[in-house]
Amino acid sequence: MTRDKSPVGAVRPSQILWTYGPGALIDLPSLSVITMGNDRWEKDRCIPIEEARLLAAVRNVLGPQVEGLRVPPFQQSEEVEAFSAEALIGVPVRPFPRWLRCVKCGLLSEYDLGLFKIKEDRFRPENTRFVHEGCKGSKGNLPAKDADAVPARFLMACRNGHLDDFPWHYFVHSGPSDCKGTLRFFESGASLQTENLWVKCDECGASRSMAHAFGKAGKENLPQCRGRHPHLDRYDDDCGEQARAVLLGATNSWFPITLSALAIPLSRDPISQLVQDGWDYFEDVESEAEVSLVIKTLKKSGALPGIDKHTASAVWNVVATRKTEQALLQVIKTAKKKFFLTSFVAYDVASILTALAEATERGVEISMLLESSDAHGGGVSVDAIGHMKKALPSAKVFYWREKTDAFFGGKVHAKVAVADEVLCFLSSANLTGHAMEKNMEAGVLIRGGDIPRKLHQHLEALITTKILERA
Ligand SMILES: [Zn+2]
Ligand SMILES: [Zn+2]
Ligand SMILES: [Zn+2]
Repeated sequence: MTRDKSPVGAVRPSQILWTYGPGALIDLPSLSVITMGNDRWEKDRCIPIEEARLLAAVRNVLGPQVEGLRVPPFQQSEEVEAFSAEALIGVPVRPFPRWLRCVKCGLLSEYDLGLFKIKEDRFRPENTRFVHEGCKGSKGNLPAKDADAVPARFLMACRNGHLDDFPWHYFVHSGPSDCKGTLRFFESGASLQTENLWVKCDECGASRSMAHAFGKAGKENLPQCRGRHPHLDRYDDDCGEQARAVLLGATNSWFPITLSALAIPLSRDPISQLVQDGWDYFEDVESEAEVSLVIKTLKKSGALPGIDKHTASAVWNVVATRKTEQALLQVIKTAKKKFFLTSFVAYDVASILTALAEATERGVEISMLLESSDAHGGGVSVDAIGHMKKALPSAKVFYWREKTDAFFGGKVHAKVAVADEVLCFLSSANLTGHAMEKNMEAGVLIRGGDIPRKLHQHLEALITTKILERA
């Protein structure tokens, strides 16, 4: 299908993000095009981006169907041979508005109805344009010669974000009409104010000034919004908005939604960053005393500059936190069929969320017991249940429902993770919060035997006996 593709110009990658994203109009020197929805982009040419936090933020706004993040397609080299396959790599666009007019005879028609032909310029793609082949002028009495065709600069837009072609036939015929006459666009008078711009039907002679497309007259002379998304080839049902005529090039027609995230490497503070960078050195340490030895060795070798500025106790706290995270990740990644997690504050830890999402994808049934927030009668200030349900819609989230008087004010405080009844992790530590940096914590990873099995069965029994309820 490369034959119906033509390069039409170049934009910078940042412009694709900020100005010309899917659904935006790009007003090129001789063409106006719309950036197609990213379902049309060549996925293989778009390099994936691994940014779990950003992905979570995007899913929060757009929904869980967002598979991943990718870079827009781009040509790898500066010098691309004009007729090579690489010259066709890019973001797909389509002429929009579809209506063009001949600058010589005023012929007004859709670009794909055959009256206009595309004239490619592979060496200077920005010069690619449409022409009216064999134009004989507005009176039809001039020698046949190709004339440039330019976009008809009128469009329809509504406040729900729909964008449509200007309804030229409807407008000139004052409503629906059977007349299929050829339309022409012409100017009268010296200035190019809308009063002096006219559309006329060759067949029935009807004509109308473009001034009638705006303001109060516009409301009377233009149809209801059709709910069109031209970049998706889709129409929404029943848009209640009044569509309004807009001029191509109006700067307020497209706005991006921007979300940002700290890119990896990320950490709360310099010690965390250092520990993350030098994890190979700390991975196997078991105590503050061992950390102290590692720091001394690193200071001598200069392998991790800056680590000696921190006390062994502070570094050990960070190492322990990270070990908690690593242990929990190990359990999640082991799970093949089912995984049960209780009360770890993990909804904003990107690595954990990513691992849980991956587990879901390979068919693991995930259950979680979380503490309700104060607002929902629980004991924590953050709505962990709400966050988790949003981030991981397929997980079964439970809360402690049945609290008899004796347990009034009690919290789900056990931090337990079990995979397939064979591997479990028990810990006193949460994964976030400043308490982690100061508290004394302990954790244990148990593989095989009775404990992981009994633990999982106990948690399931709490559900069966309705002490836990689906949130
Ligand atoms: Zn013409
Ligand atoms: Zn007509
Ligand atoms: Zn609409």
